[in-house]
Amino acid sequence: MTKIDRIDIDSQSSLVEAAPSNFFLGKFKRAGDVLLDLLYPPQCLKCGAIVESADTLCISCWQTVTFMTPPWCDACGIMLEFDSGPGGLCAACARQLPVFARARSVFAYDDDSKAMILSFKYRDRTDNAPAYARWLARAGADLLEDADLLAPVPLHWSRLCWRRYNQSALLASALSQETQIAVLPDLLVRRRRTASLGAMSPSRRRRTLKGAIRLRSSYRDRVTGNRILLIDDVLTTRSTAQACARALLRAGASAVDVLTLARVKRPLPQAAS
Ligand SMILES: [Zn+2]
Ligand SMILES: [Zn+2]
Repeated sequence: MTKIDRIDIDSQSSLVEAAPSNFFLGKFKRAGDVLLDLLYPPQCLKCGAIVESADTLCISCWQTVTFMTPPWCDACGIMLEFDSGPGGLCAACARQLPVFARARSVFAYDDDSKAMILSFKYRDRTDNAPAYARWLARAGADLLEDADLLAPVPLHWSRLCWRRYNQSALLASALSQETQIAVLPDLLVRRRRTASLGAMSPSRRRRTLKGAIRLRSSYRDRVTGNRILLIDDVLTTRSTAQACARALLRAGASAVDVLTLARVKRPLPQAAS
């Protein structure tokens, strides 16, 4: 699979801006941006206060959100207290490695950050997708470097009817636009609606998800031999990401990584083997 080099795109776009024939176009574009900012001033992604640029938080919200920073567990991405060098693992992953290779997230999912996820997921703040994609691109730079294909964690059709959009698919598509890495929004299908997994034991979660997530068979060739990057809004247990990773690995994916906007601060509960 061909992947457009991001550095090439960046250097090409800077060349285009420098070309004299595009000088006036650039002026018009900047004037248009100024007008748009006046009509629809950029808002803090969390509280809606007016801010300077479109993909940021106001100062008071910035102080409440815990952004994920290294050192982190090489497998599940949880922040570690001590740097144990490249490949360092948290205690949970040292006991049992996840099925996916690496997971990374932008910020911790807690009472302070929940509002951003909920407004994106349920309150139609889909216009935030490009800004979140830029955050994902920064937090997941290592994973994106190796990714051949992006795919969202799927939503069951009944939930899709109710919510009207799959927030993970919006993130994956916006991230594809940002990075030029191919995306298949319907690569995985959720065949069964499953109850909320949060309160279940690991073995019950595994039983609940068994056979619930499948690869769309027409895409098998796109998966074989490729490294897939799964995109989701929140990582709360390993179970859903593992079920997706199992389906992709069975179809011949070389590896599966996971990139999410948020993740729980505690270690991800162990998955039943
Ligand atoms: Zn704010
Ligand atoms: Zn870990």
